[in-house]
Amino acid sequence: MDSAGLFERIRQQIRRRRRMSARLLIVSSVVTVLGFSGVCGSIMLEMRRSAQELSRQTQENLASTISADVNRNIELYDLSLRSVISSLALPQLAEVDPTIRNLILFDHSVTAQHFGQIQVFDAKGDLVLDSATLTPERVNRAGEAFFRVHLEQPDLGLYISRPMQHRGAYALVLSRRVVAPDGSFAGVVAGSIRFSYFQELFSRLRLAPQDVIAVLARDGTLIMRTPFDPELLGTNMMARIGMDRMLGQRHGWFAGEGKADKIPRMYVWADSSRPLIALVGRSWSDVFGMWRHEALRIGAILLGLAIIVAGFTVFFIREIDRRAEAERQLEELATTDPLTGLTNRRKFDLVMDREWRRAVRSGTPIALLIIDADHFKSFNDSFGHPAGDQVLVGIALCIADSANRAGDCAARLGGEEFAVLLSGLQAAEAQGIAETIRRKVEVWSDGQAGVTISIGLASMTPAAGQHWSMLFEAADKALYAAKDLGRNCCVVAASRRDLNLVA
Ligand code: GH3
Ligand code: MG
Ligand code: MG
Repeated sequence: MDSAGLFERIRQQIRRRRRMSARLLIVSSVVTVLGFSGVCGSIMLEMRRSAQELSRQTQENLASTISADVNRNIELYDLSLRSVISSLALPQLAEVDPTIRNLILFDHSVTAQHFGQIQVFDAKGDLVLDSATLTPERVNRAGEAFFRVHLEQPDLGLYISRPMQHRGAYALVLSRRVVAPDGSFAGVVAGSIRFSYFQELFSRLRLAPQDVIAVLARDGTLIMRTPFDPELLGTNMMARIGMDRMLGQRHGWFAGEGKADKIPRMYVWADSSRPLIALVGRSWSDVFGMWRHEALRIGAILLGLAIIVAGFTVFFIREIDRRAEAERQLEELATTDPLTGLTNRRKFDLVMDREWRRAVRSGTPIALLIIDADHFKSFNDSFGHPAGDQVLVGIALCIADSANRAGDCAARLGGEEFAVLLSGLQAAEAQGIAETIRRKVEVWSDGQAGVTISIGLASMTPAAGQHWSMLFEAADKALYAAKDLGRNCCVVAASRRDLNLVA
């Protein structure tokens, strides 16, 4: 490989490397930012899962504690009801004094703060015994649900009523069937748990403003709720909360929306085997409150990082472009003849080499003109070197003006010698261009002490294995022939040996 080829290869390698480094910079910046985002994203997702799990555990513990307290009190109260029923069966009871009878029937537990009095109703629903007084008022409760259910369903056991208003306050009525010795219905024993019990229980808990606690009966009836909402008490939540799943699974959670406030929440239940089930709801914004704060912080840091990386990338790419442009300008300077602005010899050799190989591949002709100013030495001697330079510039303009197709390349080979490469042209077509150039110079230099040019022309369709220097030699010889023929003419080299005179 000659020095021009080596130079071109090195230049291409530098250009390739520059493109590669710009691409590498962009790719590595994007990969870095994406990688960071990916890692942070997965950490954030993991933190989100943990936040949800932590909240679920906390809510489950709360639900479990509430359920234990509520159901223990119901059991205690139920024990009192059972005790009344078993004492009623004592035959001696009818003979004792009413004060003693009340003492036997009703233990002290029913006097606890939130428990209402226990009352015994006969088979017709008439109040016959009352733990609060020896003279029960004359009332009939045969129409009440707590009485009728025991009349209709002998095996019901403990019945817990819907929330009902009793003497201006909400209460739950708990009742059991009284059975006569012969197994027939003998009445109902009933008592109540006031809502003040739930209110006190819930007031002991530290709840977020959007937290909700609900106590549900096994049929889905809402028994009690905080925040307190009398509108919702007693309504059936069965369809809304998927009661079947709650009853089937001892503990679990579901995502739902508040009926009144429409706030989306995570609802957790625990111990669903008990008579009353506690459900603790926490809004998702509270569940993920801390996490969201952290996510925003990390997101902001990541965004800042991405902006910095993008800034650096843009800065370095601009630097690479700036350097590329400077190198391009330097390259242009290095390949241009400073006097005429035409391509210089080194660049011309590269173009020649490239076009020659292209012509070999495509099987198309390639023509070369070598142009030399006639008697230029004497022109210089007569008019001075600067005037000679002006003439060289004029000749260059005439050449560039005539050889202006896309594949053409006009160059100054050195001194007063020029070359024109005409890709794809046969000798006859190239000859037309050569004549145009010669005449242009002739006409132009008419007022410039009559400088003329001689042209040697060669054209061939190159074959593989041939070097362009043979075309160059042929054109050069044709130029000598033109000089020999008296100058200001163009000679076509038909072959390397056979040169035709055309002007
Ligand atoms: P011929 O017709 O045989 O070509 O005669 P010639 O005088 O042109 O040929 P010769 O090679 O003897 O002289 C070339 C001259 O070209 C010598 C030199 O003074 C002149 N020359 C070479 N380079 C430059 C240049 O850059 N500027 C100027 N003004 N003259 C130059
Ligand atoms: Mg010369
Ligand atoms: Mg000359």
